[in-house]
Formats: sequence, structure tokens, C-alpha cells
Amino acid sequence: MARYHIETYGCTSNRGESRAIESALRDAGHYRVEEPEEADVAIMNTCTVVEKTERNMLRRAKELEEETADLIITGCMALAQGEEFHEEDVDAQILHWDDVPSAVTNGECPTPGPGTEPVLDGVVGILPIARGCMSNCSYCITKFATGRVDSPPVEENVEKARALVHAGAKEIRITGQDTGVYGWDKGDRKLPELLDRICSEIEGDFRVRLGMANPGGIHGIHEELVEVFDRHDKLYNFIHLPVQSGSDTVLEAMRRQHRVDKFVEIVETFDETLDYWTLSTDFIVGFPTETEADHEQSMALFREVRPEKVNVTRFSKRPGTDAADMKGLGGTVKKERSKEMSELKMDIVAEAYESMIGETHRVMVVREGTGDSVKCRDEAYRQIIVQNASEHGIEPGDFLDVEVTSHQTVYAFGKPV
Ligand code: SF4
Repeated sequence: MARYHIETYGCTSNRGESRAIESALRDAGHYRVEEPEEADVAIMNTCTVVEKTERNMLRRAKELEEETADLIITGCMALAQGEEFHEEDVDAQILHWDDVPSAVTNGECPTPGPGTEPVLDGVVGILPIARGCMSNCSYCITKFATGRVDSPPVEENVEKARALVHAGAKEIRITGQDTGVYGWDKGDRKLPELLDRICSEIEGDFRVRLGMANPGGIHGIHEELVEVFDRHDKLYNFIHLPVQSGSDTVLEAMRRQHRVDKFVEIVETFDETLDYWTLSTDFIVGFPTETEADHEQSMALFREVRPEKVNVTRFSKRPGTDAADMKGLGGTVKKERSKEMSELKMDIVAEAYESMIGETHRVMVVREGTGDSVKCRDEAYRQIIVQNASEHGIEPGDFLDVEVTSHQTVYAFGKPV
């Protein structure tokens, strides 16, 4: 549970992006404070219309960097001219709007709302399949609020998914703190069965996105799970598997329930079975016990598995957790390691999007974007922006084929074919 401060500049579209960020943070149990000095993290949603605005953005970023523990910069200027912040020596994470909520969570799992009732948001149906987890991570405050996993029967979740599709959902987002442990409390992990049944028993044109699953919960069912992915086109070929560190020593201090080799084994199984898929993972940088050698192991793992989507979080203490009592690393060390990893991230993620140029992908339009654009997701949940949407008569919920024409590090641009 973090305290965040958010500042939004520019047009109504940018304000819409900030509202989406705030809604995701509220759902994850975080709360807003008005003063940057009171916040664990400040979010600056930038605009870049005229040169004067840019100068103001740079100046304000500098001030916020000094006033808060962590700064995240997003928005148009961050995405188009992110290097200017680095040139001005602003120490901040530069992120796409969609990546801000997970960066704020400090490596903890998302917290669904108080119940597990589904929500329909536009054409996106959010289906929390269970609440709670089976872990006791030493840095996590979320677990105090949510406790051990409590899994409703598969049948109940299938019926909730069916109701969402009947209500107009075109994308079902399977969420939970740790979707991989769904069913564990009832004696058997049931995620493959649940996904299989949703995709095979519910009629209609829709897609399913699996939310965060810790490697410890997935390992052991990963072969069965990848077969379900391979069998169903309705399932986005996307898995969010937060590894957090490339060092087993750090994973032990974090009390994660996996080791590096288990994570790699899952990734290799997906690589061997699926031709086109997205690996999303998270790294916490600067955990109190992390040595330079541990950090190098994380960088090596990053280069080895080359994830197409990554959240890099600089460790910060959460009150009441065991990690809060550990002697922390200095801010400079954390900043340097985070910067090194974020630069690697930009290279690797950009490479993934670059390789898509010229390809044609089947996408689903998820929502409206800035101006006359729409945001779409392809078979592997990669983001493709289509511009001049009204000219093409495209709106949220549509399925279409697009050719990828260019990219911007964490998303691509495409045109209908
Ligand atoms: S898996 Fe770990 S980080 Fe996630 S909620 Fe449980 S204890 Fe927290």
C-alpha cells in the first residue's frame, strides 16, 4: 500500500490516462496524497505541445525528484522525448501509461477489490478468480490485507466469465493476487482447467488474458498450462511471471517460493511450445541484501530470457514487513542499478517491437487512445496503435488484421489491411 502523488498536464486524453492509472492504483490498495513530500512515489503525466511546456516539464520533474522518494514520468513527452529527462539528469523511471500501476506496486502482487465480483469496463471484463496468495514474501504488505488464497469452484468462475461475455466483454482479464495458485487451498491447482473451460465452453468472439502468476505457483502445472495456451486462440499468448531477481540468494531473502532455475524452466517450456508469445516479468532492484554480484546475475538472467515486457521496481520499504527492518542499500546504488536495468529493458523491449515491423497481426481493439487513435492487442497481447480510427470505422470491441508499420519502444503502430 503505497502513497502516491500524481500531476497531470495537457489535454483531456492525458487526464483520461491519469484517471485510468488512479483507478488501477485504487484497486491495488494504494492511496493518493496531495503533497509530493508525503508520497512514496510521485507520478508525472507529461505533455509536449510547445517548447515552453517542455521546459516547464523538465523543471517540474527536477523539483519532484527532490521532493519524493521515487519519481515515475509518463505521458507524451516521456514517450516521445524521454531522453531529455536523462540528459537533464532527472532520476526517474520513464514509462508508458499502462506500465505505471505495476511500477508503483513495489513488486507486490495486485490486490483485487474487497470481493471477487467481476467488473465490466468498456469491452474489458475483469474477473478476479480468487483472493489471497500462498506466499509470505518478506517485502510485501499486501498479504496482511488479503491473507491465504481462497478459491471459489471452477464452475462458479466459468459462469462469471460467461456473464461478462453476455454483457458485452470482448476481453476477459483473469486477475487475482497470484493466479497460478488458484485451487491450491482446495487440494489441486485448477488454473489450466479454468482457462480451458472458459475458452471451450463459452461461445462468442472474445479473448482471455491471464493476469499475474508467480513462478512458484505455476511450476509443476506449466506443461499442462502451455498446452491450454497452444490449444486455444482465444487465450492471448501472454504470461506475467514476476521473477524479481536473478540471484537465488536474494530470492531466499525475499522469501519467494521459486528459484531462478524453476523460472527458466517455465520460460523454456513456453518457448518450445509457442511460436509467438510475450513474456512479462518484474525485477525488484536494490533489495537490502542485493550485492553487486547478485545484481549482475539479474542482468544476466534478463539478457538470457529477453522478456518483451518488464517492470523494473526500485526497492522501497513497506512498514511492518520483515524487509523494512533490514539495513538498506544507499539511494545512489539503487538508482544506478535501476538505471542500468531500465536501459537494458528499453533495448530488449524495443528489439521485440522492431522485429514485428512488416508483420500482419490479428488484433482486438481494447479502447480509444489519444486523438483519433485506438489501442489494440494482438495475439501475444502486444500493444498496437491504429491511427485515424474513425476514417476506418474502427471502435473498441472490433477484431481486425493490421500490418505493423513502426514502433515506439513499448508499443507498435499499425494500419488495417
Ligand atoms: S505472493 Fe508475495 S508479493 Fe504477492 S501478495 Fe503474496 S506475499 Fe505478497
